[in-house]
Amino acid sequence: MRLGAIEAGGTKMVLGVFDQTLKQIARTALPTTVPDETIPAMVSFFKEHPVDALGIASFGPVNLRAGSATFGTILNTPKLAWQRFPMLAAFKEALRVPVEIDTDVNAAALAESALGAAKGLKNCLYFTVGTGIGGGLYAEGNLVHGLMHPEWGHLLLTRHEEDPMLHGVCPYHPNCAEGFASGPAMQTRWGISARDLPEDHRGWDIEAFYLGQLCANALMAVSPEVILLGGGVMHRESLLPRVRSQVLKLVNGYIDQEQLPEMEDYIKAPSLWPDSGLLGAALLAKQARKKSRKAPE
Ligand code: ZN
Repeated sequence: MRLGAIEAGGTKMVLGVFDQTLKQIARTALPTTVPDETIPAMVSFFKEHPVDALGIASFGPVNLRAGSATFGTILNTPKLAWQRFPMLAAFKEALRVPVEIDTDVNAAALAESALGAAKGLKNCLYFTVGTGIGGGLYAEGNLVHGLMHPEWGHLLLTRHEEDPMLHGVCPYHPNCAEGFASGPAMQTRWGISARDLPEDHRGWDIEAFYLGQLCANALMAVSPEVILLGGGVMHRESLLPRVRSQVLKLVNGYIDQEQLPEMEDYIKAPSLWPDSGLLGAALLAKQARKKSRKAPE
């Protein structure tokens, strides 16, 4: 059995083919331009490397409401050419194999739970901090969806009083996590990218202040057994320890010490990164195949 996997991102599409044991057989990456160009190129890759099922770990927002007639369609994305694009339906039609779709971050949470840093745990919360901020929650064997998929990046945060930016960069919210702590927020605030921000710059304290709030809120809201922080901004190794101290400060002793693990074990880097999303997509393909065998279409 061959599993097809797509990590659909705003700048590139990563495509992979895996065997049943998740060993990679083929892989490529294509630029994300417009659907009329990108989709045929992706389809032709899978025609060259045929698969028995496909998993898509997609950028969002995407309609994941069970039973919806437009399930698997991209929603209100700033990438205008992709708005209302029926991602799931396009591949089902072109490849004629079972297809499963979820968000890139949910797929990453799935992969880390099955194979990575959260292996053996009942639940795991995966955050990516990069061009945007997103979170995926795996709980008791399932990826969490409701009305749609959770939008962790738009949780509202308290502004750092020394933050020179009064409003975050999110066009919808003046004070959400993505608006304050994504890569573009750091770039706008300091005029240089997170990658180039000096190690001793106060920007890292402000960044940790926001990510600490995000993690502490998540801890209080859904009580995950582990929180994984991936994405481009997290490349700065000194950031993770700063976030851990912020979380402890914000929890402020409220959670009994016996209940709360050591922060080093609780807030961690994902172990499959940067392939968490693609491997998650392969696992989604596995699920799609399993489902189709139970209920053939
Ligand atoms: Zn927002």
